[in-house]
Amino acid sequence: MSIEVIKSVRTMQHRSSVLRQAGNSIALVPTMGFLHEGHLSLVDIAREKADIVVMSIFVNPTQFGEGEDFEDYPRDFERDLSLARERGVDAIFWPDADEMYPENYSTYVEVEELDKHLCGASRPTHFRGVTTIVSKLFNITRPDIAVFGQKDAQQGFIIKRMVRDLNLPVEIILGPIVREDDGLALSSRNTYLSDSEREQALALYRGLQAAKKMVESEEVDSNIIIEKIRSFFEAEPDVQKDYIEVVDLERLAPIERIDQPALIAVAAYVGTTRLIDNIIPKLSDCCG
Ligand code: AMP
Repeated sequence: MSIEVIKSVRTMQHRSSVLRQAGNSIALVPTMGFLHEGHLSLVDIAREKADIVVMSIFVNPTQFGEGEDFEDYPRDFERDLSLARERGVDAIFWPDADEMYPENYSTYVEVEELDKHLCGASRPTHFRGVTTIVSKLFNITRPDIAVFGQKDAQQGFIIKRMVRDLNLPVEIILGPIVREDDGLALSSRNTYLSDSEREQALALYRGLQAAKKMVESEEVDSNIIIEKIRSFFEAEPDVQKDYIEVVDLERLAPIERIDQPALIAVAAYVGTTRLIDNIIPKLSDCCG
């Protein structure tokens, strides 16, 4: 099947229902485009799990706050189309903003509590935008499976909770973080970095690796781990901490001691670019 580009909600819904009636399972890979190997690794997982892979490409305005980079967010649809085609995506859902948010749009989906810390604390309306758009994408593409990246771990856990709480008939899979050879997590926003910032951005990965080693050698005190990561940030002139947190996996709330499955997550400005990264020590890299 050659790749199909669909812009309208009705066409996408119709296409999905025809495919399902013909007995196909559908996997959705939601993205904001400007594709890299991280996104494409999710396509590989999707292809293994379902007959048809639908990728959505939509820079979702409701998940950007005031003064964030919605306007500047990198976009290159032709490049995305050819990368998606090469990787075996069957259909791209690529709507315009007013197709998704018509005039007088008034309905939002909110998952409580899990958005209080980490990125939710510094981006208070972000996850409401994410859960709203993801709900809409599920209703439009009707997937059996949806694949997200552990790169955005809080997002993944919030979406899993939404799916459970609202009984949405979709299985959520989180794929492992894909990194550059030197460890920097791939991100569409890496394109904003100057050469010097690109080098300094490694503080996030190096700090997390040091934290992982500490946990592996039985350090359980979250504060000691956080201080270690902070020292990597403070060694770089253009790296400004947004947060360094150790949280549990149920409530995503800070824990003093790592005596249960935990997420160590960081966010930092490198110059003006906000980057995030995380590890789930003790568990394998992928949290299924
Ligand atoms: P985005 O286009 O940034 O909204 O990301 C779309 C999906 O790709 C999300 O589920 C992200 O978690 C995932 N993703 C982004 N970067 C990576 C990465 N480096 N490795 C794995 N998945 C990623």
